[in-house]
Parts: sequence; structure tokens; C-alpha cells
Amino acid sequence: MTKMKKIQNFINGKFTNPISNNWIDNYCPFNGEVYSLTPNSSKEDVESAYQSAEFAFTLWSQTTLEERSRILIKISELLEKNLERFAEAESRDNGKPISLAKAIDIPRAASNFRFFGNAITQFASESHESVGQNAINYTLRQPIGVVGCISPWNLPLYLFTWKIAPAIAAGNCVVAKPSEVTPMTAYLLSEILNEAGLPKGVLNIVHGLGTTTGQAIVVHPNIKAISFTGGTTTGAHIAKIAAPMFKKLSLELGGKNPNIIFADCDYENMLETTVRSSFANQGQICLCGSRIFVEASIYDKFKTDFVKKVKQLKVGHPAESSTDIGALVSRLHLDKVLSYIEIGKKEGGKILCGGNQVIIYNYENGYYLEPTVIEVNSDECRINQEEIFGPVVTIMPFKNEDDVLHMANKVKYGLSATIWTNNLKRTMRLSNQLHAGIVWVNTWMLRDLRTPFGGVKASGVGREGGFEALRFFTEAKNVCVKY
Ligand code: NAD
Repeated sequence: MTKMKKIQNFINGKFTNPISNNWIDNYCPFNGEVYSLTPNSSKEDVESAYQSAEFAFTLWSQTTLEERSRILIKISELLEKNLERFAEAESRDNGKPISLAKAIDIPRAASNFRFFGNAITQFASESHESVGQNAINYTLRQPIGVVGCISPWNLPLYLFTWKIAPAIAAGNCVVAKPSEVTPMTAYLLSEILNEAGLPKGVLNIVHGLGTTTGQAIVVHPNIKAISFTGGTTTGAHIAKIAAPMFKKLSLELGGKNPNIIFADCDYENMLETTVRSSFANQGQICLCGSRIFVEASIYDKFKTDFVKKVKQLKVGHPAESSTDIGALVSRLHLDKVLSYIEIGKKEGGKILCGGNQVIIYNYENGYYLEPTVIEVNSDECRINQEEIFGPVVTIMPFKNEDDVLHMANKVKYGLSATIWTNNLKRTMRLSNQLHAGIVWVNTWMLRDLRTPFGGVKASGVGREGGFEALRFFTEAKNVCVKY
């Protein structure tokens, strides 16, 4: 029997096994088989990671911005150099098509390091002259100390590095935990960190379950900020612990994003993008437009054309270049998504296409699901209100702008929204009034890393991206000097 690959923690620049010697099975979504073991790190491992981060902070917080920038850009280059290896690992761990990991996930992880490596050299603080009082105030932007970064499984390396890169660029040291469902690329990243010359202890990666390792990071009294991306329930739990400890908190949580289509849009572009915004990454992107509202006058045409295109998407093995939809991330998640399809049927939803698990020859135990379109007759049904986070979208018609605005906003979430129209005034009216942190008009997921990223209502607290992230990972200290 071949020995199972063991993922290790990365603490103080070294690979280590968990102190408790406790391991979790890591499944491959292609075929449902366990293919590696992940540490289930205890609070002792987290303490060890904290100690090494705390020790490294003295030096790292005083390292020049140019030097920090140089190292971050080096990490970015090494990720690019290892694109194939990382993309294969991401695909095998998560189930996404390799083509997607190659085109989006890994290049974006590299961009995160390059972007914040550059951004930190442009990050400046303010000064205020107190006119008439012979005084000047200047504001220091100091790193916080040791911070915790916790990320989900849907865009594993992409979202992990989206937190880590600004944290270390700003001079903090980090205890980071990737999702236990997709730990592999965070593990591979550890190898690159030493090669890039990141001083030991600046970034420590501990693997494990949320309830053990994640919890240990959140409750640690000296980890002063938590940057978290994941589910809304987990976010609420973390906030309950962190708020009375006065930790800085950034919470990027769930979504149920509306995709609003007016009759006057550029139809072909809208149609093609809507297929993508519904099913990219198996619908497992927090920004996917899972509630599609279509103006009544083009509803029937849209329904026919959209369903036709969705039926053409090929569900298949993630390594095959012809695959559009890979495997869902886990058995548990597949079951959750299937259960929502059942709920949809019971609520009177009409399955226009999909709805079934897909069995692929030789990979019968993989987690494959048909892309599913459900026509609903009320925006208030559960499948229109609750986050499914899989290849399932709802569609329904709307009468007018007020009508759709009301429905779009009538959910507990508020992450993103997409509007398709060529009416400028309408675009501006709706963008102003939609409950969302991000609004796309006539596009979807066009990302400029300088822009604020985050949600309102149950989609989170705080903004990531650009200088917002560097502000989050620093404390402002005002110094008032009288002359
Ligand atoms: P999750 O909340 O189950 O887990 C996210 C991370 O939190 C994992 O690393 C997990 O181990 C950890 N965790 C779980 N319990 C914890 C605890 N008690 N203390 C500390 N850490 C804990 O979410 P998931 O299932 O991995 O990800 C899917 C969710 O993430 C969806 O709701 C999706 O919308 C959301 N998401 C949001 C964004 C965004 O930017 N807003 C981006 C991607 C995903």
C-alpha cells in the first residue's frame, strides 16, 4: 500500500506535523477518494505559530517597504513559474476545471502578491494642519502585530492570498488557516515562501477544522485582528467571540446576488455572461448571480435561449479541456445542493434543466451535478432567499424597475448585484438603491484590485481590496505637534 501524502503545517519557516498527531482525510472531488491527510491542528499548534509570528514581528514591522515589496513580488513570480503545478493541485483538491484554475485562481493568487507588493510602496498617511493653533497633526499607519487570516474552499489560494498579501505588506505577521476542505495549495505555497526569502515566522500556516484550529485562532488573546471569508453563520460566531475582545474584524460572508436583466440590454453579451455568472466554478463563487430577474417583455425569449445554452455546458472530469463544469467540492456540499433542488420542487419551482447528479464513467463516486435552472413563481421562496452556493439558479420575470428593485433587496444578503441595461439613468438610480457592496453594470466579475470589495447586511462587515485592505491591517495613530 502506498503511503498517504501528508500535508504539514508551516511554522517558523519549517514544515511540522501537528503536535497532537491528529489528521483529517482530504478527499478528491473527481472520484470521492481520500488522497492526502491534513493536520487537525490544536491550540498548541496555533500557539506555536503565534509565538513564531510574534518573534518575527519586531524585525518585519521595521523592514523597509521596498524590501517587503521585493519579497512579495518574488512570491508572485514563483507562483507564476509554478502555474501548472499549482493549477493541477487546486483542481484536484477543489474539483474545479484545471482550465479555470490555470486562467483564474493561480494567476489571481500571483496578482494578489504583486498588487500588494506594489501598493505598499504607494500607501501614505495624512497630515492635518490645525490652522490658527500652531499645530500639525500627522497620522501614523502602524502594523497591528500578529493577525489571523481564515479562508474558505471555493477559491482556495485566490482568497487565502487576498488576505495574506495585504497583511504582510503592511508589516504584520500572520497565523493563517486555509479551509480544511481544500488545504493543498496553501501547503504548496509554504515551499515558495522560503525560496522567495520571506523571513521565517512572518507567515505561519496552520491546517485544521474550523471548530478546532480556526476557533483557536479566533480566541487567541494576542491575535489582534481577524480577517475572515466564509459562511454567514460562521462569521456571526466569530464576531461573537472577537467583538468583546476588541479585535479588528473583517468579515466577507455569503451572498444571494440578483442578476437584473432589462429588455434594452446588449442581449448576446448579457446571455453569454449570465451563463458564466450563474455557473462559473460550479456556481461556487460568492459573487455568482444566483437570482435572475428578467423584464417580462423578453422573459420567454431569455428562458428559451438561456436554457439552451446551459444544456450545452459539459459536466466532466476537471482535467479534460472540454469540461465546463467540474465536480462540486465535497459530498457534504453536493448533498446540500441536491437538497435545495428538492426544496425548490416542493415549493412549486419548475426545473427547466438539470437537477440531477451526473455519474461519470470510471469516476462514479465523484461529486458531479448538472447545471440547474429553476423557474420560480415567487421571490420569497426558500431557494430564492437562501444561499445554495452551487450550480443552481432561479429565474422569474419582473414588471418594472420598482418591482425588481424591491425583490432584489428583499433578502438578508447584500454582496453584489448585476444590472443589464443601456439606460444610463436607470443604471444610476438602481446602483444607488441596491443593497450591495458591489454593483456590475453590463459586465460581471470584472475585478480591479484597487476597488473596495465586500458586502452589506448579512454579507459582511468591512472592505477588502486596495488601500482599504492596507487600512484594515494597520492602526491609525494621530500625532499632534505644537510649534
Ligand atoms: P465556512 O464558514 O464553513 O468556513 C470558512 C472558513 O472558516 C474555513 O477555513 C473553516 O475551517 C473556518 N471556520 C469554520 N468554523 C470556524 C470557527 N468556529 N472559528 C474559526 N474558523 C472557522 O465557509 P465555507 O463553506 O468554507 O465557504 C463557503 C461560504 O463562504 C459561502 O457562504 C460563501 O458565500 C462564502 N464566501 C464569501 C466570499 C466573500 O468574499 N464574501 C468569498 C468566498 C466565499
